[in-house]
Amino acid sequence: MTTLYLRAPDPDWLTQPGVPLALDLNQFTGRALPAAATEWLLHSGTPAELATEGAPKLTARQYAAEVRRLVLDVGRLEHVSSQNWDCSPLALSRTTLAVGHHQRNTISNYLALRDLLGDIVFPVLEGATASEVLRCVDLYDKAGVNLTRADLVGLGSVSRRKPAADTARLIDALAAIGLNLHADDRHDLIGTTGNLAAASTAAWTTGAATSDPLHECTRATCAHCHLTARLWHDQHALAGVAA
Ligand SMILES: [Zn+2]
Repeated sequence: MTTLYLRAPDPDWLTQPGVPLALDLNQFTGRALPAAATEWLLHSGTPAELATEGAPKLTARQYAAEVRRLVLDVGRLEHVSSQNWDCSPLALSRTTLAVGHHQRNTISNYLALRDLLGDIVFPVLEGATASEVLRCVDLYDKAGVNLTRADLVGLGSVSRRKPAADTARLIDALAAIGLNLHADDRHDLIGTTGNLAAASTAAWTTGAATSDPLHECTRATCAHCHLTARLWHDQHALAGVAA
């Protein structure tokens, strides 16, 4: 069974029960913090910062301070992504650093955040290819991190790569060594492999933008509609397969 965290368009969605949600830290900027009525997962937003700025906006210590505020004031935060150094071609071209450097930064950031925040933080695997991702598992091991003990292990940029069959093979190999894997924006993989522990997905909103409303709704489309998100979640979480 894969836990699906639906990408929420607004932090206020956290006040509504029934759908586990995923949000980026930058979505809380300048906002009053809501009290959560549902479980949720926080993404650091670091991959997007690397792609635009070539560096993370916050140090590990600054990020940890923001997370503590969300834990105390919002509540029900289940998992927090470390500030992974994405290995997408765009991120690598912006930082001008090698994959190995991104991997070392990713692991040292995880170690710092684990010291500051504990097990709520999950490590992320990085690498531009499947073999580099497997090597990243060894690098964590050498750094004294037993990934099989982590509640979740993020798949990082490689999970966004097509074709799904290749990524599914990698996921199956990683699951075989005992990792509880989380994929970002690839809920379609759930139909290809039964080995994802969790996924964050915006798929519910792309479907809702192009199809008829799923319910009585006054909006022109249901692309930002919580009830649509809940119906999508229940359908996919129960079926355990992709649309
Ligand atoms: Zn609607």
